[in-house]
Order: sequence, then structure tokens, then C-alpha cells
Amino acid sequence: MGEYAEMTLDGDFCESCGEYMGDGHGYPQRCAGCHHEITKDELEREIGQK
Ligand SMILES: [Zn+2]
Repeated sequence: MGEYAEMTLDGDFCESCGEYMGDGHGYPQRCAGCHHEITKDELEREIGQK
């Protein structure tokens, strides 16, 4: 897991599309556009591949 993934897990970036949101709260979150598009299992698989 690289720095980008860690920042995503902190909520700095959308965990689905990677859009920078800037105000992480210490947990993964999604931008408004992705909020309901992907399940956590799909996300973890996707992060694991990168
Ligand atoms: Zn997004």
C-alpha cells in the first residue's frame, strides 16, 4: 500500500475515483458522484490491484 492509498484511507481522496477532496477525517470516503456506486468489497479489490 503506497502513500496514495494511505491518503485515500484517510479520506483525502475519493476512495472510488481518486478525486481530491482535501479534508480527510481519518477514514475512507467518497465524493458525491461516487457515493453510492461501489461496494466496499469492490473497492478493496480495486485498491489491492494498484
Ligand atoms: Zn469519486
